[in-house]
Amino acid sequence: MSAGPASGCDAPPVGIDGILRERGQREVFCGLTGIIWLHRKIQDAFFLVVGSRTCAHLLQSAAGVMVFAEPRFGTAIIEEKDLAGLADANEELDRVVTRLLARRPDIRMLFLVGSCPSEVIKLDLSRAAQRLNQRFSDCHVLSYSGSGIETTFTQGEDACLAALVPDLPFTDAHQLMVVGSLPDVVEDQFLRLFADLGIERVVSLPARRSRQMPAVGPNTRYLLAQPFLAETGVALEKRGAVHLPALFPFGAEGTTAWLHAAAQAFGVAEDRFEIVTRPPRERARKALAAHRTALTGKSIFFLPDSQLEVPLARFLAGELGMRLVEVGTPYLHKGHLIDELAALPPGTLISEGQDVEKQLDRVQASRPDLTVCGLGLANPLERTGLSTKWAIELVFSPIHGYEQAGDLAELFARPLNRRDVLRV
Ligand code: SF4
Repeated sequence: MSAGPASGCDAPPVGIDGILRERGQREVFCGLTGIIWLHRKIQDAFFLVVGSRTCAHLLQSAAGVMVFAEPRFGTAIIEEKDLAGLADANEELDRVVTRLLARRPDIRMLFLVGSCPSEVIKLDLSRAAQRLNQRFSDCHVLSYSGSGIETTFTQGEDACLAALVPDLPFTDAHQLMVVGSLPDVVEDQFLRLFADLGIERVVSLPARRSRQMPAVGPNTRYLLAQPFLAETGVALEKRGAVHLPALFPFGAEGTTAWLHAAAQAFGVAEDRFEIVTRPPRERARKALAAHRTALTGKSIFFLPDSQLEVPLARFLAGELGMRLVEVGTPYLHKGHLIDELAALPPGTLISEGQDVEKQLDRVQASRPDLTVCGLGLANPLERTGLSTKWAIELVFSPIHGYEQAGDLAELFARPLNRRDVLRV
């Protein structure tokens, strides 16, 4: 199967910076989805969505069939009488929170998560959080929006982490902060590497427990582990922290560049960096080599969904030789992606935003070997004979760092291998 960027009269109109911007209908999940991985990360937090039955259903289906003795997320349903303004939604919310905290004294941090319905009735959740904080001294109440209006699903994590930042304690200690919710096992691998490099003080945002959230200040240097944390970056900079620009830690090269940015900022000698990173880097390269036959030369089309698209495209093209037809992303934060954009093959078509029908036409015109897209688009595309990969799976899976590089490649190789098996 061959594919390449459209050309001539068929080429989509791109801006002066070479980026195609589209503002049409979009097919993405809302920010509530982030609760699924955030509640696993912050182990004594509870996420209370203030929303409708639709929001509750979305959470339930995104979480899969999970039965918890003590669930750590739930929905305070806004009923029709609330929407019609016949009930005092603030009073109802206070009642729900009081009942919840009486039943669950183990909850140390409570996020009130806004939704489309709570925004429609203009329920001010930040004021509600302030009010509830005065009432409950054992539980820190915060709020953020997971609403689906003009957002995509990874913005839920960004909004959640940004809500944490203003309340972080102050420190003027020289420290490295790793920002972004990573699976514990991956976070531990990075912490070991930083320790081996001799970087003594390394903290993570978010911490695993609400009482262990890190301090921040002007001598904090932060590395983003995820490319979708624009608001969190702004909040950290307001507290004096300084961003360390780098490739994101996907694949052997991305992980090396990411670690190197920290090593340079903390004065780690190059020979020590080499000694510490060479063995895991070699392991990662070996793991990647096993997937090269399946992936090299294959074409891939990213529809905008997770905001991981640009770093993943760089990884797939640079380390596995895939051909990029189009790299669509919901939002392009050029400041955070500056190194990633520079590392893409020259002439890569990058699109920001979506006009889904037009973009699907481009997918069909180019017939890529693999299309990365949201759940809602995968089945229709598969029916037309195209292989797909769910973007959301990439957010749920451990994919960062040296030890996960092979697994990350396999996530893309699997649908292609399956297609070949079905063809036989
Ligand atoms: S927040 Fe909005 S988009 Fe998300 S589930 Fe609720 S109603 Fe739907």
